[in-house]
Amino acid sequence: MFTLRNTAKLGLNLWSKRSIASLSALSETHQMLQKTCRDFADNELIPVAAKIDREHLYPAEQIEKMGELGLMAVAIDEKYGGTGLDYLAYAIAMEEISRGCASAGVIMSVNNSLYLGPVDRYGNEEQKQKYVVGYTDGKKVGCFALSEPGNGSDAGAASTVAVLKGDRWVLNGTKCWITNAYEAESAVVFATTDKSLKHKGISAFIVPRGASGFTLGKKEDKLGIRGSSTAQLIFEDCEIPKENLLGEPGFGFKIAMQTLDAGRIGIASQALGIAQASLECAVDYANKRIAFGKPISKLQAIQQKIADMSLNLESARLLTWRAAWLKDNKKPYTKEAAMAKLAASEAATFCSHQCIQVLGGMGYVSDMPAERHYRDARITEIYEGTSEIQRLVIAGQIIKELSA
Ligand SMILES: Cc1cc2nc3c(=O)[nH]c(=O)nc-3n(C[C@H](O)[C@H](O)[C@H](O)COP(=O)(O)OP(=O)(O)OC[C@H]3O[C@@H](n4cnc5c(N)ncnc54)[C@H](O)[C@@H]3O)c2cc1C
Repeated sequence: MFTLRNTAKLGLNLWSKRSIASLSALSETHQMLQKTCRDFADNELIPVAAKIDREHLYPAEQIEKMGELGLMAVAIDEKYGGTGLDYLAYAIAMEEISRGCASAGVIMSVNNSLYLGPVDRYGNEEQKQKYVVGYTDGKKVGCFALSEPGNGSDAGAASTVAVLKGDRWVLNGTKCWITNAYEAESAVVFATTDKSLKHKGISAFIVPRGASGFTLGKKEDKLGIRGSSTAQLIFEDCEIPKENLLGEPGFGFKIAMQTLDAGRIGIASQALGIAQASLECAVDYANKRIAFGKPISKLQAIQQKIADMSLNLESARLLTWRAAWLKDNKKPYTKEAAMAKLAASEAATFCSHQCIQVLGGMGYVSDMPAERHYRDARITEIYEGTSEIQRLVIAGQIIKELSA
C-alpha cells in the first residue's frame, strides 16, 4: 500500500532548498503527499463529515486510517514511529484532511503539534519511548492542557499547581477547553511549581489517563468541529511519578509558547482546508444554479466573490507555507506563524461566509456543507491564540525589528 512512510525519504529536501520565490513549486514528494491526502479526504472523509458533525461522533475509524498513512505523526522521527517528514509536509497534509473534515483536522493537529511536538522536543529517551512511541498510528492520541477557566489568552497566569512530594508530583487545578480530552491517553499539562516566579515558575508535565485524582468534566456542546471532544481536565491531588516532569522545572511557559508557534502552522492549515472546501462548494454550485436564464457563475457579482475568496485563500496559503519553510530551515518563525494563523483563519471565515451567500437559501441548510464550513471556520480565529493575540504577537515582533 502507498503510505507516506515509504515516501518519506524521496527527495523531501528538494523544496526546502528552493527560494521563497518558488513557493508554488512543491517537490514531487510534497505533491504526492498532497494527492494522497486529497484522495483520502474525497473517499474517506467527505462522505462521512456531515454525519460526524450532526452526531458529534469521534471519527475513530478515519483517525486510525490516517495513522496507517502516517498522518498522526507527520514530522516525528521514524525512530519513534513517526513519518519523518518536514513541517511543510505536515501543513500540506493538515490542509487536505481539513478540507475533508475539520474535526479530523483538529484531532490530527493536536496529536501532531500540541502533544507529540513538545514530548518529542523536550522529552528524554525514556519519556519518548513511553509517550511518543504508540501515539503515532492513530490508535492512541494525546492532548495539550494550557487553558484554564480563569486564564485563556493570559496563559502565564496559570493557577493549576504542582508540588513535589517525595518521588511524586501532586497536581491541583482545572484545565478547560481541552481538545481530544475524552480520547487522549496522555496529556501535556502546564502547572505552576513556583508562584513567586510568575510565568517563569510554570512547568510542564505528562499526565497519563488513569492517574489517581485525574477526572474529566462534561463534553462541551460546540458550534463547530463537533467530531472532536472538548472538556475540562480536573486534577484533585492528582499524583504522577517525579519522572513525568517534561523538560526543566520552570521551562513550562517557554515549552507552551514554542509549541503554540508550531501549532499555529497546523491551525492555519486547518483554516486553509475549510476555506478551500468553501471555495470548491461555491464554484460547483454557481456552475449548476441557473438564475435569469444562465448559471450564476456567469454573473459578475458572483465572479467577484469567487475572485476575493481565492485571493484570500492563496495569500494565506503562501504565508502558511512560508512559516513552515522557516521552521524547517531552523529560522525564527514566531511572527510568520502568527501572520499565517491570522490570515488563514480570517480567510476561512470570509470564504465560508461568501460560500453561503453564493448558495443563497441552500447555503443556510444542512443539506449542503456550506453552513458546516461556516461553523467550523469560526474556531480557527479563537484557539491557539485569538486573532487579537496574533496581532499582538505580530506587532510586538515588528516593533522590535524596526526599533533595533
Ligand atoms: C473548541 C476549543 C478547543 C480548544 N482547545 C484547546 C486545547 O486543546 N488546549 C488548550 O489549552 N486550550 C484550548 N482551547 C482554549 C483556547 O485556546 C482559548 O479559548 C483561547 O486562547 C482564548 O482564551 P479565552 O477563551 O479564555 O478567552 P479570553 O482570554 O478571556 O479572551 C476573551 C476576549 O478578549 C480578548 N483578549 C484577551 N486578552 C487580550 C489582549 N491582551 N489584547 C487584546 N484582546 C485580548 C480575546 O482576543 C477575546 O476576544 C480551546 C478552545 C475552544 C473553544
